[in-house]
Amino acid sequence: MGKYIVAGNWKMNKLPSETYNYVKEVVEATKGSKCEVVCCTPFVCLAPAIEAAKGSHVKIGAENLHFEDKGAFTGEVSADMLRDMGVEYVIIGHSERRQYNNETDETVNLKTKKALEKGLIPIVCVGETLEQREAGITMDLIAIQIKKAFAGIPAADAKKVIIAYEPIWAIGTGKTATSDQAEEVCGGIRKVIAELYCEKCAPEFTIQYGGSMKPSNAAELMSKPDIDGGLIGGASLVAADFAAITKAVE
Ligand code: PEP
Repeated sequence: MGKYIVAGNWKMNKLPSETYNYVKEVVEATKGSKCEVVCCTPFVCLAPAIEAAKGSHVKIGAENLHFEDKGAFTGEVSADMLRDMGVEYVIIGHSERRQYNNETDETVNLKTKKALEKGLIPIVCVGETLEQREAGITMDLIAIQIKKAFAGIPAADAKKVIIAYEPIWAIGTGKTATSDQAEEVCGGIRKVIAELYCEKCAPEFTIQYGGSMKPSNAAELMSKPDIDGGLIGGASLVAADFAAITKAVE
């Protein structure tokens, strides 16, 4: 299966002034982890995060980007700006951005293509609401999200994209999907990828689970064959918890 990646999504937490020391703590605490370790931070925290992670195994990501190269987009941040700072990853299409910032499957696709063009590794989020799950349309919906996100992306580039399956009802709620529920959808995503690209290359894609992942449930979730890591919100804000999740990969 894909390479294991555990990425923290800080969301709108932590101050720039706290970031350097906190990332240093993460670097120390995650030493020896058998997975790629990524901290995705607010734009204003990226510079101290990059400085603190310099020369270490920890990579730094942003939580969003704009799909245009440059121009009159007040308040926006481009892929070139992120690359110029030394950012390596970028979260795209998080459900909170879909809910509060008009992110759509179309903008997710444009942003994913732009990130790839500029050498950033996109972490593309997909997921269903509780109502959609209860209506029995989870996999149909996720298949549409995946197909739209990957539209026009050739196989060689597509493999660089990390997919994060994040059931919306499990984000920040303390309600984790069971490992079987998570595996069912992550396995379904891999089938969609096999259809879109090829059966043989589908195992090379990294598919994360996200939604109230914590030290106590991480090993069980990541023991499933189609779950290659996690996107971690709340638990990424405490270095010891985040590190314990990275160690659960073993
Ligand atoms: C997230 O926001 O990506 C997330 C998974 O949050 P939490 O771990 O807090 O549920």
